Amino acid sequence: MRLTYHTIDLKLKHPFRISRSVTELKKNVIVQIDEGVGEAAPSQYYGENADTVIEFLEKVKGQLGDDPFQIESILSNLDKKVSGNFSAKAAIDMALYDLVAKRLNLPLYKLLGLDGKAPLVTSYTIGIDTPEKMKEKTKQAKDFLVYKVKVGVENDVEMVKAVREVTDANIRVDANAGWSAEEALEKIDQLKEYRIEFVEQPVDPKDKAGLKKLKEKAGIPIIIDEQLMTSKDIPDFVGLCDGINIKLAKCGGIREALRMIHVARAHGLKVMLGCMIESSVGIAAAAHLGSLADFLDLDGNLLVSNDPYEGLRLDKGKYYLSDLPGLGIVAKQK
Ligand SMILES: [Mg+2]
Repeated sequence: MRLTYHTIDLKLKHPFRISRSVTELKKNVIVQIDEGVGEAAPSQYYGENADTVIEFLEKVKGQLGDDPFQIESILSNLDKKVSGNFSAKAAIDMALYDLVAKRLNLPLYKLLGLDGKAPLVTSYTIGIDTPEKMKEKTKQAKDFLVYKVKVGVENDVEMVKAVREVTDANIRVDANAGWSAEEALEKIDQLKEYRIEFVEQPVDPKDKAGLKKLKEKAGIPIIIDEQLMTSKDIPDFVGLCDGINIKLAKCGGIREALRMIHVARAHGLKVMLGCMIESSVGIAAAAHLGSLADFLDLDGNLLVSNDPYEGLRLDKGKYYLSDLPGLGIVAKQK
């Protein structure tokens, strides 16, 4: 099999601010394995960027063999040879699944035995800004059924209040570890007035005592995201949260995401499928697994103004998977 790659520069429609960082341009790497396509959406927070992805791809590109149907052994060999590099591994994983499904002339969800017609309601993220601008962003994206509001800064209750003033839709919040446990309890208490569905990553994932306290006292579901990478990490958070946020770029791709979903279910946890800032390639790969999740947060492609791919249809806050073979994604005509 022949692996090639190129970088893409995704431009954010609005500077994307969360409690610890702001992003205006995101450099991702598109990987092609024969006719299969995948995307690496590296995150500096997890020690990856486009350069580390390319370094990884150069290291392993001659080691994939000739048979894409050997996804399990190809990917477990990569894991044995090189640790980490999850977004780079995810790109290879997605490209292999896309390739195999294309060879079998099946959309990916069918290859995986999944329901491709289940409603795929995604949240739309409102990044940190002035309350006025957050109101404006929410109004501009008025057809969504769920909004995810980034919090974890001083005036965040005011921000959520502002968003609530212009929508009756569901609101979730994500503090990206920006609160202490005590602060989280206070903020959550104040936020309840604005009908919050759940709180994602209220505190530092290392603060196990804080999480335990929140699980007992917050009275609202807590979802873990930061530093929860693969299925191996799930048992550490059992009893400390109500659900987990799985991202292909964080776990290494579709194969590991499926494993995580089953491990989470075995522990009675809710499953959220999330994303990084990425094009329709990475988003579609996750959307094919959408019927297995309780919550979808697949809006990375919607936050950018120059997605180079298309094929995943969005209508009134719900995705509709393409019935084209594989991921169902094609490059936009220039
Ligand atoms: Mg998150």
